[in-house]
Amino acid sequence: VEALVAARAVGDPGGRVVVFSPRPLDEGGPVAGAAVADAVIGSLGGDLVEVALDRGVIAAADLGHRMAARIDTGAATVIGTADAAARAQDDWRVLTACWQSGVARRALQLGVQYAKDRHQFGVPIGSFQTIQHRLADLHTAIDGAHLLALEAAWAVDAGDPRRPWLAAAAHAWCGEQAEAAAAWSLHVHGGYGFMVEYAIHLFVKRAKASRVALGRPTDELAELARRRFGAGPTSTAPRGPAPPVAAADDGLDFRLGPDTEAFQGEVRAFIAQHVTTEMVERAHTTGTMHDWDLHKALADRGYLSAGWPTEVGGQGRSALEVTALQQELYAAGAPVDGMGIATMVAATLMLLGNEWQKTEVLPRLLAGEALPCLGYSEPDAGSDVAAVVTRAVRDGDEWVIDGQKMFTTMAHEAAYVLLLTRTNLDKPKHKGLTMFLVPMDTPGVSVTPVHTLGGERTNITWYDGVRVPDRCRVGDTDAGWAVMHAALVYERNGANWGEPHHLLEAVAGELVGQGQLDDPVVAATLGRHAAGDEVGRLLLYRTAWLAAEGGLPLVEGSMAKLFETEWFTAMAADLFDLFGPAATLPRGEAGTVLGGLVEHAYRHSTVTTIYGGSSEVQRGIIAERGLSLPRAR
Ligand SMILES: Cc1cc2nc3c(=O)[nH]c(=O)nc-3n(C[C@H](O)[C@H](O)[C@H](O)COP(=O)(O)OP(=O)(O)OC[C@H]3O[C@@H](n4cnc5c(N)ncnc54)[C@H](O)[C@@H]3O)c2cc1C
Repeated sequence: VEALVAARAVGDPGGRVVVFSPRPLDEGGPVAGAAVADAVIGSLGGDLVEVALDRGVIAAADLGHRMAARIDTGAATVIGTADAAARAQDDWRVLTACWQSGVARRALQLGVQYAKDRHQFGVPIGSFQTIQHRLADLHTAIDGAHLLALEAAWAVDAGDPRRPWLAAAAHAWCGEQAEAAAAWSLHVHGGYGFMVEYAIHLFVKRAKASRVALGRPTDELAELARRRFGAGPTSTAPRGPAPPVAAADDGLDFRLGPDTEAFQGEVRAFIAQHVTTEMVERAHTTGTMHDWDLHKALADRGYLSAGWPTEVGGQGRSALEVTALQQELYAAGAPVDGMGIATMVAATLMLLGNEWQKTEVLPRLLAGEALPCLGYSEPDAGSDVAAVVTRAVRDGDEWVIDGQKMFTTMAHEAAYVLLLTRTNLDKPKHKGLTMFLVPMDTPGVSVTPVHTLGGERTNITWYDGVRVPDRCRVGDTDAGWAVMHAALVYERNGANWGEPHHLLEAVAGELVGQGQLDDPVVAATLGRHAAGDEVGRLLLYRTAWLAAEGGLPLVEGSMAKLFETEWFTAMAADLFDLFGPAATLPRGEAGTVLGGLVEHAYRHSTVTTIYGGSSEVQRGIIAERGLSLPRAR
């Protein structure tokens, strides 16, 4: 890396070994690679200088075996400006991030392979959930590292204005993941990892040494925060003339593309017109994250079926565009829980519905006149939703339904419930389920409110001798499991990045406005979350991009959901701490932080790791399908 950076800064070294020192040479510390180099370049007295070296310097012993040596800068020659030195340092950040991302990936692979091969208690250790889930977390964070390193490299080549902070973000994130992957992989190896015959100890040492090569990791996070949120000379403004834009055909482009960007603008204009402060306030007061006026406006624009093909009445928008639509709405705090459910149920009916469902129900859903709700979860069937016991028994042309559903969100606003029932007790549990679309005004259906920590209102729904005609059945009898998953074709991009992103932007704006970016704790916290925020965005849009390319990104979707919800939870807690006791005041109280935004985020973020498939469920998918680990015990 050090030689590559030097070559980019001063051109072909012509057979000599020239290395770049990421730390200013004024500091006088050992320079990595200097023990085997003919020359070192680096910043000295503000300039970019070259120092010729005598061969035969003895390398200092260090944790990373970096062939480092102290050098005498007495005969340094000025070869460039401070700007050139700063550019070289950012090149070093990006290339080091790429290297660290590779170190992390390989360290993880060693751990995964060992977990498959090593048996204890008569089974592969990779079938233990503790091992699986940590590896799944790392797999996710390392995919994020890979994407972020590539994005930073692309940004440098393309002259993207975000490149200064992307370089710092990639370096900070990839360094952390390399260290974490090596440390956990070592742990997975048990005692054998400590034997020098196993390679993992090399990764542990190199990853740690690399992480501090530029200085303290927290200082780098603070630098990232200054570049991302500050207005100083190292902010997001490009320094000097931009390098040439990357060739269009090199296959790497991190922009959303003109169509999606234009649509994003359209959605922002829609939000400015239709999402009001009073509307958001009302949703928080009632806990009902739905607004009929907004819902109708979304329907009138065709946004409820934006991603459907035009042949079936949709707008034929790509997964990238649909993702942009969702994220803009989330970021605006728009109460759109009803929209998500309506889109999902409508897609199910469009794909599998019968005549009545398609001609009478579907148009009402798409027009924004009627709302459905989802009746899946039960008191004893949550993550294991196939264990539902709500019974549907056929009686001539009708069905009689008895049971109880938990957390039927929007049931108090909905006209229909998509109800998962058990119709066959003799078949295996996934195969004895049937789905119904039950009108909520059917006698025997009742709703009890449930209020939650995050402020959302949800419900318990009861079904007491509910009689419905057979036309309410969705799909075949005993095929409810497939019906439940049918709409996933259109619903893979659901991770909510917009809301946490808005939180971070708002908090950063507030703290920077108070002049707190000079506080190292504030800066390091904001820097850390700026990196995670970008990783979440990349994981989300990767899923959308794969779907837009015709793929079914199951594992990638799980990664996006797992990462974003866990990150949101951790970030909300960290940002809360930055404000101290003032953060505890809810909206409406005098002296709240950002009108209660931080307090609400802390209460609300955690539940996102539970609904929509809990983090443990996602980790299981990533471990077993993404890493091919054996089924969990
Ligand atoms: C605000 C809110 C709104 C909701 N809206 C709806 C809705 O509209 N419709 C609907 O049908 N449902 C809804 N749900 C229910 C939601 O889908 C369930 O809460 C979720 O599926 C988890 O089920 P559970 O709560 O029974 O937890 P459990 O499944 O009992 O899980 C408890 C804990 O055990 C862990 N766990 C479970 N299984 C495993 C495993 N195999 N390995 C490791 N760990 C495991 C979980 O991750 C969790 O941490 C909502 C829930 C909430 C809180």
